[in-house]
Amino acid sequence: MNLSVFDQTESEVRSYIRSFPTVFTTAKGSKLTDEDGREYIDFFCGAGAVNYGHNDPDIQEAVIEFLRSDQLQHALDMATTSKRHFLELFRDRILAPRGLDYRVQFTGPTGANTVEAALKLARMATGRTGVVAFTHGYHGLSLGALAATANQWFRQAAGTTLNDVTFHPYDGYYGDEIDTVALLRKHIEDPSSGLDLPAAIIVETVQGEGGVNVASAQWLRDLRALCDEYGIVLICDEIQIGIGRSGKFFGFEESGIVPDMVTLSKSLSGYGFPMSLLLIKPELDKWQPAMHTGTFRGNSIAFVGAAKSIEKFWSDDQLENTIAERADEVVTTLNEIAEQYPGEFSVRGRGLLQGLVCEQDRELAGRISRAAFERGLVVETAGAYDEVVKIMPTLNGDMETLKAGLSILRDAVAAARG
Ligand code: PMP
Repeated sequence: MNLSVFDQTESEVRSYIRSFPTVFTTAKGSKLTDEDGREYIDFFCGAGAVNYGHNDPDIQEAVIEFLRSDQLQHALDMATTSKRHFLELFRDRILAPRGLDYRVQFTGPTGANTVEAALKLARMATGRTGVVAFTHGYHGLSLGALAATANQWFRQAAGTTLNDVTFHPYDGYYGDEIDTVALLRKHIEDPSSGLDLPAAIIVETVQGEGGVNVASAQWLRDLRALCDEYGIVLICDEIQIGIGRSGKFFGFEESGIVPDMVTLSKSLSGYGFPMSLLLIKPELDKWQPAMHTGTFRGNSIAFVGAAKSIEKFWSDDQLENTIAERADEVVTTLNEIAEQYPGEFSVRGRGLLQGLVCEQDRELAGRISRAAFERGLVVETAGAYDEVVKIMPTLNGDMETLKAGLSILRDAVAAARG
């Protein structure tokens, strides 16, 4: 396996190549192939960017046809047929059936781009500067988003001060007994708590990078009520848990809350093309023309992929049923692993974002990931100490491949325990 150009030429900042040191060539559905012809089952899905699997044939067809058609590939934010088609489908098949009324802002193509827009707009709309974010939260690494990202590994690289964000304990941070929204309420109500009234609260309904921590529906509803009472903008960062991972299109759907702003990215285009957007309640859409602009906001190929993926996957409840079935299979296997080695593991997650938490030996998760890779399974770690094996299979892969992946995971756990 020739990795020398990467080692010699690419920056030290490279990351996943270190966990999965091979040169990949092709990918189809839930499987990746490398240069040696070795196959890997994908329990990583580009950190949630290819939730429908690799190279979906229908999206591929639509994109190839679009490329051949000489329609505009780049249009800044001018009106194009591809953008109109996406917006109409997103409004009619995603927002309307869920009773959601949002304006759509196309930001730059990364998740962090969208988080920046959300924080900026919330500050502008409220005239306040402070933001509350949560322990173990991850929102991206550009300066504004990094200020709201908890992990010290990333924060120490800022090279400057990270301002105007106060961290507060996420649901379950102090165990099940302590209601951390009640704590936050007390800080907000007490004029001498030292916490100024924030512009926004930014939250992931399930924290992906932070170690698959799950907020309960009640906790989210209490947070929503607190924001309503005090005029705080509630931003749900749906970049990882959104677009199907939780079992629904949005991760917040199960709780019944309606956020004031929603950041979406990763699997939006359905094919791994970069695309992000910010959903904004109409009354908060305080932008003036071109106040937050950029060259690459919504690219045409991504619109085509996104439109096709909405038509294919979100026009009935078939995918939701498939996700529920697949999630059952994953959780059953993870619970079996936890039972097999009492006290060593716990299991947590929602839908097809599940974590196998290594309770005793934090290093074990990394060893499991490496042992899995040697056996043909791509699965990554998450959490403050990388102590959680984060399982993210494709949402629509066949059951046989899913079971084969879970079987490799079992073997990897056995091997990594040593
Ligand atoms: N928010 C969440 C919840 C994420 O999981 C991520 C990426 N892992 C981001 C923001 C940042 O997205 P990007 O890497 O595309 O900037």
